Amino acid sequence: MPVTLNTSDADFEAGFAAMLSAKREDSTDVNEVVAGIIADVRARGDAALCELTARFDRLDLSPDRLRFSADEIAAEVARVPDEDRAALTLAAERIRAYHARQMPEDASWTDPEGATLGWRWTPVSAAGLYVPGGQAAYPSSVLMNAIPARVAGVGRLVICVPTPGGVINPLVLLAAQLSGVDEIYRIGGAQAVAAMAYGTASIAPVDKITGPGNAYVAAAKRQVFGRVGIDMIAGPSEVLVIAEGAQNPDWLAWDLLAQAEHDADAQSILITTDPGLGHAVAGAVDRILPRLPRAAIAGASWRDYGTIITARDLDEAARLSNRIAPEHLELCVDDPEALAAKCVHAGAIFLGAHTPEAVGDYVSGPNHVLPTARSARFSSGLSVMDFLKRTTMARLSPGALAAIGPAAIRLAASEGLQAHGASVQARLAQLNERMAE
Ligand code: NAD
Repeated sequence: MPVTLNTSDADFEAGFAAMLSAKREDSTDVNEVVAGIIADVRARGDAALCELTARFDRLDLSPDRLRFSADEIAAEVARVPDEDRAALTLAAERIRAYHARQMPEDASWTDPEGATLGWRWTPVSAAGLYVPGGQAAYPSSVLMNAIPARVAGVGRLVICVPTPGGVINPLVLLAAQLSGVDEIYRIGGAQAVAAMAYGTASIAPVDKITGPGNAYVAAAKRQVFGRVGIDMIAGPSEVLVIAEGAQNPDWLAWDLLAQAEHDADAQSILITTDPGLGHAVAGAVDRILPRLPRAAIAGASWRDYGTIITARDLDEAARLSNRIAPEHLELCVDDPEALAAKCVHAGAIFLGAHTPEAVGDYVSGPNHVLPTARSARFSSGLSVMDFLKRTTMARLSPGALAAIGPAAIRLAASEGLQAHGASVQARLAQLNERMAE
């Protein structure tokens, strides 16, 4: 049974706090195993990759077979049915168009002292995308990671995807092709992350690694951070649906179950101003759930983490939403824009009854890699910015140095850094001499 809460009840705060603090991730400590795998790949390179792939993915490879050849990719991609190809192409185009608008502008201006200041954006030279392949394959994740990188102008784009028993989902390869990925390697887990971070004879290192994965992948990304950049460590997914009375309970039930079927640790929350609607949605979930192929996963998620909250009004619903800071926020209300203005902590907002969260997973355009576990309070989903660096620029005219240099000399002295001050003073001295001539 999901948790049901009512903000008018005296014990509401206790129930809400318990829901917020519930730990949904299983915390198996794989750090030591992962550290061993990373050290092995650093020491033995391709030989370690081949051995670990045989052990974990039941696939015997020689170093020259780590990378998918162009012919292998073409043969797999040819198997994709036309309808799937059309859908993936539409998704790719929409994701590309959305992310193209995120490209930030360089800036440059000259201030009244004569200093020309600004910044410049440049892409990382090479990015590596991890694509999970152990238990499920997600072509949409390939698009969501690779397209922003390509739009940002990343020079070299690499994918690592495990192929247990040698099996690959052809849609993953088609998604890579549509996104403009340069190299695809059939390796997974911590060894793939290590190879992308440190390089081997067959795989040149990258500068940034993104993409979801299991506990081994997440631990490896944490351990190579610093050597390379990483995107984020995603936790179990969540959706919060805020709904008013006139909504279709079945639609809302499908939305809650769409989240629940991802993972037994996923969380689906409904906040409604109408207890009757809450009741109807709970009934619809119970009716629909047993029919789902992933009923066991969705059922466990709904039973352990599903929550229905009755709020007094939409203002109160917005305040609760801000405390939850959900990854996905669906606003199934009459005036979703007005409510969205009040919901300030959310990874992605879906406005109105005709915007189910699932369209955002695939085709609406915004990225589906989003902050989980309340981190939407301080962070954002994946974007082109994750593949760009901002370099600051400054050029001082002699007049500008004369105007602001003395303050730098003063501050350098206060920090006891003599050469700092002298580097400014030497220039000012020459300027003064010239002025005196
Ligand atoms: P995976 O590709 O992440 O992991 C498979 C690899 O794990 C194997 O190749 C192997 O190298 C390694 N591994 C397995 N057992 C090991 C062991 N005992 N010791 C060392 N290494 C071992 O695929 P998966 O396992 O199917 O996990 C996919 C994960 O990604 C799931 O948790 C899923 O929820 C998540 N996911 C998240 C999103 C998202 O957007 N947040 C999207 C897709 C998938």
